[in-house]
Amino acid sequence: ASLQQTPAEPAATPDDDGTPRKRLVVLTGPAGVGKGTVENILRKNHPGVWVSVSATTRKPRPGEVNGVNYWFLDDQQFTDKEEAGDFLETATVHGLARYGTPLKPVQEHLAEGVPTILEIDLQGARRVKQRAKELGLEVVYVFIAPPSFDELVRRLKGRGTETPEEVAKRLETAHVELSAENEFDVTIVNDDVDKAAEDLWRVIASEYGITE
Ligand code: 5GP
Repeated sequence: ASLQQTPAEPAATPDDDGTPRKRLVVLTGPAGVGKGTVENILRKNHPGVWVSVSATTRKPRPGEVNGVNYWFLDDQQFTDKEEAGDFLETATVHGLARYGTPLKPVQEHLAEGVPTILEIDLQGARRVKQRAKELGLEVVYVFIAPPSFDELVRRLKGRGTETPEEVAKRLETAHVELSAENEFDVTIVNDDVDKAAEDLWRVIASEYGITE
């Protein structure tokens, strides 16, 4: 994997009391790029990292567990939570289902200084960007890119968990997402999942001032 980091802002701006301010890590990349795998390796190697559990209206895939992979809600439950202001951001992804990041757990983990990651789509990342100031969040935006578009198509079809219609939707979304790479602070090219997970860890470690 190759890592390109734009030296835009200084890492971890100090708070008023001089302690480094913890940044939220927002991870985005097209479906099929291997975000889930990269994240799982990261979690295994660095158990201190917390990955936010999103809510969704889509049906669980085989093996997915409520409260672990997602909070699986029906449309009404999702709407109620959205109206109550419980979400940091929401988006309808692939035009098929609604997804949202519960705000409170994110704020709580950040307040405790726990490295916190959101794995969300491009619309969600843009929404976080709009709200970051209002919510007092410092955010680093990380883009996971495939080695090539052909490779992405191959991986997405090979996954075999989606219908052809869903695969087509996801590829359409992937086109849009790939062209937005320049909106992100860091790009990690996922040509090797172990390497990509370590690249991601290095970004987190530098944001959190962790040396090991
Ligand atoms: P999947 O249904 O394959 O688990 O996820 C589909 C897409 O939804 C992925 O691109 C994933 O990043 C995105 N996603 C998952 N959770 C959230 C969320 O809370 N907010 C947003 N905006 N996107 C999400």
